[in-house]
Amino acid sequence: MSHGFDTLQIHAGARPDPATGARQTPIYQTTAYVFRDADHAAALFNLQEVGYIYSRLTNPTVAVLQERIATLEGGQGAVCCSSGHAAQIMALFPLMGPGLNVVASTRLYGGTVTQFAHTIKRFGWEAKFVDFDDEEAVAAAIDENTRAVFCESIANPGGYITDLDAIAAIADKGGVPLIVDNTAATPYLCNPIKHGATLVVHSTTKYLTGNGTVMGGAVVDSGNFDWSASDKFPSLSAPEPAYHGLKFHETFGPLAFTFHSIAIGLRDLGMTLNPQAAHYTLMGIETLSLRMDRHVANAEKIAAWLEQDDRIEAVTYAGLPSSPYNHRVERICPKGAGALFTVTVKGGYEACIKMVEALEIFSHVANLGDTRSLIIHSASTTHRQLTPEQQEAAGAGASVVRISIGTEDADDLIADLDQALTIAAS
Ligand SMILES: *Cc1c(COP(=O)(O)O)cnc(C)c1O
Repeated sequence: MSHGFDTLQIHAGARPDPATGARQTPIYQTTAYVFRDADHAAALFNLQEVGYIYSRLTNPTVAVLQERIATLEGGQGAVCCSSGHAAQIMALFPLMGPGLNVVASTRLYGGTVTQFAHTIKRFGWEAKFVDFDDEEAVAAAIDENTRAVFCESIANPGGYITDLDAIAAIADKGGVPLIVDNTAATPYLCNPIKHGATLVVHSTTKYLTGNGTVMGGAVVDSGNFDWSASDKFPSLSAPEPAYHGLKFHETFGPLAFTFHSIAIGLRDLGMTLNPQAAHYTLMGIETLSLRMDRHVANAEKIAAWLEQDDRIEAVTYAGLPSSPYNHRVERICPKGAGALFTVTVKGGYEACIKMVEALEIFSHVANLGDTRSLIIHSASTTHRQLTPEQQEAAGAGASVVRISIGTEDADDLIADLDQALTIAAS
């Protein structure tokens, strides 16, 4: 029996606790699990039987969250980890190696640009940044050392919408998986797997948890990629010495990536999500569709108000008919273009700073996807490590503020913006 999104966001992966009948998913606050006997322990360690050994690898509360996110995304499996940035490393880890590269969009969360432009070089990995609206450039950037293509569905900070179908076709032609960061859209607004993505990553810190309480991340596998079609992905297709020569793809089929991420990724990188955090995120997901509908309705109203205001130069929201990305909304995220966009304020850097400081309901924080409305001046904060050219390319120039619209009363938010813009213009 297939169920609708509203049902799955509450029930997928969860069942009454077999030990106690507890209806809500218990927080299994335990480090280790007692083996039935020595044979059971051996089978678990050999990956011949699926079960719980140690919470760095698996935990029953985290497992419910993994199944719920995988179900909502239409994937075969998911692995949760300690943050969205951890999820990005976990997604790339089985694919990459020294000398190999990922072709990445220039329109990404600022922290991801930094992670990809600098930190992954320490592993010998390289990111090649390309404008993903230029499909020929994306295709041309894929070379024999490319192992993945990476973009965001609704991209930071401007709320741009990526043509996932076109990019997936290019990645497919290049014989490499497409990884889509679906944080800003959530599975309610967009299902990247339906548009050809192999892997979907999330910062569950944002809309999935929904109220700014805990950090977390997830990697969802579509199960659709043939890791054995070439010799490009030996971690998944070749014998694994740490498991007696087991081949993940041959043994686990469409669950190969997920099993590898748990048995090797979490085991050895240790970017584990804790069960408390999984609990908060499960609570959040129960109301995801309700919140996203309100986030979108508020964003549409507020973006339209800002666009007609004299103190504003431009609003990037893809939900506005004037946006060059508006024609993609219907196909990529039919329930709405999210609630994240940038506003170019007349008066530049100074006016942006004044506006941010004058707002009363909006909080000036480095976060997004909260029930609370948030604002940040990217150029002086999240994107400050980037060069001015990188800032412009990422849509985070000096006169731009990024806004994450919450679920408060839209009229209150408009009144708050109005008074802050008056102060900014003075
Ligand atoms: C926040 C965010 C990340 C990083 O996630 P953390 O949970 O902060 O590590 C990655 N991508 C996007 C789109 C984000 O918004």
